[in-house]
Amino acid sequence: MASDIDLTNDRPVYVIGGGPGGLAVAAALRAQGVRAVVLEKSEAVGASWRRHYDRLHLHTTRKLSALPGLPMPRSFGRWVSRDDMVRYLEKYAEFHGLEIVTGVEITGIERSADAESWLLHGTGGRELTGRAVVVATGYSHTPRVPSWPGAREYGGELLHAREYRDPAPYKGKDVLVVGVGNTGAEIAVDLVEGGAARVRLAIRTVPHIVRRSTLGWPAQRTGMLVRRLPTRLVDRAGEIMSRIAVPDLAAQGLPRPDTGLYSRVREGAIPVQDVGLIAAVRKGRVEPVAAVESFDDNKVVLADGSRISPDAVIAATGYRRGLEGLVGHLGVLDDRGLPVVRGGRTSERAPGLYFTGFTNPISGMLRELSMDAERIAKVIKSQALKGR
Ligand SMILES: Cc1cc2nc3c(=O)[nH]c(=O)nc-3n(C[C@H](O)[C@H](O)[C@H](O)COP(=O)(O)OP(=O)(O)OC[C@H]3O[C@@H](n4cnc5c(N)ncnc54)[C@H](O)[C@@H]3O)c2cc1C
Repeated sequence: MASDIDLTNDRPVYVIGGGPGGLAVAAALRAQGVRAVVLEKSEAVGASWRRHYDRLHLHTTRKLSALPGLPMPRSFGRWVSRDDMVRYLEKYAEFHGLEIVTGVEITGIERSADAESWLLHGTGGRELTGRAVVVATGYSHTPRVPSWPGAREYGGELLHAREYRDPAPYKGKDVLVVGVGNTGAEIAVDLVEGGAARVRLAIRTVPHIVRRSTLGWPAQRTGMLVRRLPTRLVDRAGEIMSRIAVPDLAAQGLPRPDTGLYSRVREGAIPVQDVGLIAAVRKGRVEPVAAVESFDDNKVVLADGSRISPDAVIAATGYRRGLEGLVGHLGVLDDRGLPVVRGGRTSERAPGLYFTGFTNPISGMLRELSMDAERIAKVIKSQALKGR
């Protein structure tokens, strides 16, 4: 039926963003015989991964992190390094023969006058018309630093974790890492191992810490199994597991959390995978301290009233999605700035406008991106055929 329709030579589907999410969608569309063009604002695919700190390894397994149509080679090992991830994304684009335009940032999206297509505005005055648009601009889009009083006047070194690459500049220094998500926890350990004189970790909400794998069983697989179970049940199981697998670090300043693991996931906070934090806190090499409240007189003021003077403050305080400027006017975002629908579904207000990569599931985001890519491609293909 579809064979006499050439979807490869018509208005393309535009995919905004050349990270894993965008590349996966483009490959899945191509596999469906639909022409897709990836628009990437930086000069190469996988821009986020190129920027991440050197030490980073995936906390999801190689097998469960591959994108559709191309497994990751065994030589990458079980926990894939950042460099290998970048290599994989480059290879992925080449292997699938993806059409990618780099150096183009999309600044606005609107419905075309005939409501049949989408008009994209890009840097350099570009205007592009597509049959559909997939927004894959990333969950970790814009670095978020809390608006701490006094931060603007602070004379010390204050940077977002996105700017952190390796511990060398902090050798012999006193560093405060703010925020204990996976990034903050890993940077704190990296600093310790890289010779920082003192490393403190400012904690607002005590995290759930899980072992990356237990007796060879990866935490990600547990995440996949429990994903559809009732929250209270998973919370309870998580508590029991945690008491078995994670030592009590209350005496070192890291008590057990008082909210359930899965309740927190549902609020958007995935557990911290242990890649050395437990040992470092136990040995007193990473010192948990109270949350940062403000900056005053070149000192950092903590929630317990103490004032400290680190040489550098690294804010591992997360990211914003940054979708408002692009699609805010289309009424497709909720009050947290997240798309109201994603994956293969589109909003009635914006048919043909798809989103991928805007959840942070316990089962692994790369895996989710792959599944969404297939769903989106199938829906776009069937919509395209119906439209003929
Ligand atoms: C430190 C870190 C570690 C992670 N580790 C794992 C892990 O182990 N396992 C896992 O499953 N997930 C992990 N994730 C989550 C997720 O898989 C990654 O963030 C992944 O890169 C998301 O892919 P993406 O394509 O959605 O977004 P990104 O990789 O961020 O790609 C978005 C792309 O869009 C481009 N872009 C943005 N705006 C525009 C625009 N307006 N116009 C054109 N281009 C634009 C950007 O330059 C970028 O290349 C991790 C995330 C972080 C931050």
